[in-house]
Amino acid sequence: MVSRVIPVDPFDLVIFGGTGDLARRKILPGLYRRFWAGQMPEDARIVGCSRHEMSDDEYREEVRGAIQEFAIEGKEDAEKVDAFLEIISFVAVDATGDKGWKELAKKVRDEVVNAFYFSVGPSLFGDLAERLHKYKMAGQDTRIVVEKPFGHDLKSAQDLNATLRKYFAEEQIYRIDHYLGKETVQNLMAVRFGNVLFEPLWNALYVDHIQITVAETVGVGGRGSYYDKSGAMRDMVQNHLMQLLCLIAMEPPHHFEPDAVRDEKLKVIRALDPVQPEDLVRGQYEGDDKVASYFDDVEDPGSITESFIAMKLHISNWRWKGTPIYVRTGKRLKARASEIAVVFKHPPHSIFGEKANERRGNVLVIRLQPNEGMNLRVTIKEPGPGGMRLIEVPLDMSFADALGPDAGDVADAYERLIMDVIRGNQTLFMRGDEVEAAWAWADPIIASWEESGERPKSYAPGSTGPEEALMLLYREGRRWRDVKA
Ligand code: NAP
Repeated sequence: MVSRVIPVDPFDLVIFGGTGDLARRKILPGLYRRFWAGQMPEDARIVGCSRHEMSDDEYREEVRGAIQEFAIEGKEDAEKVDAFLEIISFVAVDATGDKGWKELAKKVRDEVVNAFYFSVGPSLFGDLAERLHKYKMAGQDTRIVVEKPFGHDLKSAQDLNATLRKYFAEEQIYRIDHYLGKETVQNLMAVRFGNVLFEPLWNALYVDHIQITVAETVGVGGRGSYYDKSGAMRDMVQNHLMQLLCLIAMEPPHHFEPDAVRDEKLKVIRALDPVQPEDLVRGQYEGDDKVASYFDDVEDPGSITESFIAMKLHISNWRWKGTPIYVRTGKRLKARASEIAVVFKHPPHSIFGEKANERRGNVLVIRLQPNEGMNLRVTIKEPGPGGMRLIEVPLDMSFADALGPDAGDVADAYERLIMDVIRGNQTLFMRGDEVEAAWAWADPIIASWEESGERPKSYAPGSTGPEEALMLLYREGRRWRDVKA
């Protein structure tokens, strides 16, 4: 099955931080892939910006290197790359000064869509917004894309929203959470709201519990100084896991349209109960003969920042009252794998006898990585004679298998989201009030740790996290799924 590519309107996309890590690894290779796929019109233009002086050609060579390193194999044919580099240029701009802004303003065309990607540290977001306004690039249809982290707590997020809204309306601000750009995450909405099969069961009457796991094998590595001020709660839970939770738990929006979807997500965040201390486990990875410990990575033996967190959450509304949602995320774990598992209840009465009830029941697994796809575990009769013995089998749909080789061509999260910016579609971007609500929920939890000064539990690298995280489920007769890479 060939995926349909609908070209976007002509645009000028300016990438502030165009020489940074994110631009090199994700944004520029992603844009190239959209160019390769034929989604970019011929008169699209991309302008890289950073303080460092360099010519257009020097920048193009940097971009070529990034494409060779990070674009998908098989798409790096020289002619296409050359054609893509033609649409790229560079302007040296200082976000905090006046250098380069006039030149940039001359370059940005009035007659096409204008988008500015803020791929720089958040402390520069306000400076960039102010200067875009000062140099008359903040027109009514201009879009800005802001990267995470969006604030450090509720107050800083509110301040940042207020600063951006001085120059741009909410409809112009695209707060990126790349988890929302993942194919499976959007499929979650398609499966829930495009079928009648699941939605009648999607509630506390039929769902025993939900597990959301985002596990990484890497440590904090070179990001140690940033990460140590953040921790798993700020870096992952408040944004990415919260967004996944919203999509899994929200009510059907009346239409697949930005505010309708975001209104429903916001209601989920607001319905979250405060987390009880006994429902929360924080961890920090140890080192071994191969990898450094968290302390060594952040160069602070006294750090009490968590590199792992597991929590039991409750949503107080009619749909979910009584169904716990377990979330966990961490670094230096056993596998690099992310999934959402909806674990359904057992049938109310087993006609096959007591033993059959020992089975674990239906589970719908939505795999975010690796091998994006879905898997529904159902109970069937074990084939052959010898009576009614039950077994569980997966109804497995990996996108690559189901949709053919072109499924591999589905856009990666960043490239999809950038194309949505050009189209002016905010559905997969976080609204300001959503981000603030998520901080309002997270702040008291973080404050309680800071007050207590309690150390996170340590866990071995390559494990599933601290023992206590297993107990969160064991104590209730449940267990975490064995999430595999
Ligand atoms: P980075 O590698 O440190 O790059 C920062 C970029 O900003 C460089 O191009 C730098 O170039 C430019 N810059 C710094 N100060 C500037 C100024 N005053 N005026 C103009 N340009 C300036 O950072 P990054 O990792 O790409 O991250 C960028 C943003 O994305 C951050 O908000 C980060 O939190 C977020 N993010 C990154 C990742 C990732 O995987 N890297 C993932 C998620 C979110 P010059 O020094 O030459 O000016």
